[in-house]
Amino acid sequence: MDNYDVIVAGSGIAGSLAAAGAAKGGAKVLLLDRNDYKVVGKKTNWGWVCGDAVAKTHIEFVYKEIGLKLTEPVLDVEVEGVQVLSPDLTRKFQFEGAGYSLDRPKLAKVLVDFAVKSGAEYMPHHEVEGPIVENGAVVGVYGRDAKGEQFQARGKITIDALGIASTIRRKLPKNNYIENMVSTDDIESTGRYIYKFTPKGSDLNYYDPKNALIHLNQQLAPGGYGWVFPKSNGRINVGIGVEKKSLEIRNERMKKTDTLHSLIDQYVDWNPMVGNTQIDEQDANGKGYWSVTVRRQFDSLVFPGYMGVGDSMAMPNPISAGGIGPAMNAGAISGKIAAQAVAANDVGLDYLWKYNLRYNEVYGNKTAGLEVFRIYLQSLNNELINYGMSKFLTEEEAIAISYGNIPEITIASTFNKVLSGISNLNAFRNLLFAVKRMKEMNELYNKYPSGPAEFDAWKKAVNERMHDVKEKFKPNPV
Ligand SMILES: Cc1cc2nc3c(=O)[nH]c(=O)nc-3n(C[C@H](O)[C@H](O)[C@H](O)COP(=O)(O)OP(=O)(O)OC[C@H]3O[C@@H](n4cnc5c(N)ncnc54)[C@H](O)[C@@H]3O)c2cc1C
Repeated sequence: MDNYDVIVAGSGIAGSLAAAGAAKGGAKVLLLDRNDYKVVGKKTNWGWVCGDAVAKTHIEFVYKEIGLKLTEPVLDVEVEGVQVLSPDLTRKFQFEGAGYSLDRPKLAKVLVDFAVKSGAEYMPHHEVEGPIVENGAVVGVYGRDAKGEQFQARGKITIDALGIASTIRRKLPKNNYIENMVSTDDIESTGRYIYKFTPKGSDLNYYDPKNALIHLNQQLAPGGYGWVFPKSNGRINVGIGVEKKSLEIRNERMKKTDTLHSLIDQYVDWNPMVGNTQIDEQDANGKGYWSVTVRRQFDSLVFPGYMGVGDSMAMPNPISAGGIGPAMNAGAISGKIAAQAVAANDVGLDYLWKYNLRYNEVYGNKTAGLEVFRIYLQSLNNELINYGMSKFLTEEEAIAISYGNIPEITIASTFNKVLSGISNLNAFRNLLFAVKRMKEMNELYNKYPSGPAEFDAWKKAVNERMHDVKEKFKPNPV
């Protein structure tokens, strides 16, 4: 398995789109995945574990960038937006704009078929175990085939689309560009059920057939949130994400021994609208657990001969944990750039840097700011979130933040919000600090280094600021 231009490892969302983009660009592409075609894109034995929600803008981006029009039944249900509710359910902010609940198993098939139609060679049943590195550059991957026999696949560029636990990224030689591991503080442990159910009543705070609901609640989902997303045919996708330290603190303070699994069941019980549930066994995808990162994407996404896309590069949105959209964006742009690099006969860091710049422009430049806000949010207990959502921020300001824009929040601008109570005042002062840091992060990302030479100084500035934020805001769920 030699002489490919581009090897794409992983035929999930990011990988299949990257393979299609590279093949359309004229490259000879090999797309590898461990799964059988019947279960392409399946993340683990537990299925395609996901909330399945994505904003319309990403679906449109894929069409514009790479010419793939996604339609029903992949776009299972259209929603008006995402609504974020305060723990006491008295405040509800509408985020994101219109979007879809996707049929993930069907999506994965459409994407891999598109890659093949675009000219990529698809090879299922190949478990990738690590990168082949020669003279400081990635020149392919090694692993085991269906018979358990070792294989090597060699190519000019390797695109890593293996998801959060990528065996390529973890085994790259220590370097300044791609981190091998993600800190557990930046990971949410998540789980979700897809239920067939009969709504009990019509309380839109608990289930809304037209909106994706997110429940902020540090006792039910410490350091994360719970969600109820509508699906077609009387089904919902319901789940929670929790952060390890927040869960430990919450358990200690509440004298509980809850786990992710027990908390999901409690979240379902808490919801009065969700009754008569039955796990949806279709595609054996009804119940699953997995992890998702909630940090900014890696500071660089490239290394000589190597590009990373999707969850392998920690691309999910730090506040919403939405990773489908960024995986689509990165997949659609990375393959094209890989094909251009091959055509230019230059797969070194300088050429591949174009991908860093393009991803930053398309999505990445707001995520460091959002990471700051996520860390701030995790330092607030339920009372402070309730208070903050009614007094600190207007809905418009909160929406601006979710898009990575920084509203002018100052003591003066909030003078009429009549804040009271010492812990509320402290939390508000902390919000001002967080917003200032978000602004600084956005400014830094707007000056993302134009090439590797300026990278070290830029990275140091980002990391110092993020370190300060982590020192100032500690998880404080209860
Ligand atoms: C519970 C949960 C809920 C979520 N909810 C949402 C949501 O509502 N909206 C949203 O936008 N995002 C959500 N996300 C995140 C989203 O699911 C991911 O960001 C998205 O799947 C990333 O796509 P990917 O292609 O990068 O990686 P993956 O989907 O993980 O695909 C990786 C591919 O690589 C293959 N692979 C892995 N390792 C190997 C190996 N060693 N050898 C060969 N092949 C391998 C896998 O089989 C798979 O096909 C959620 C995540 C979780 C865990």
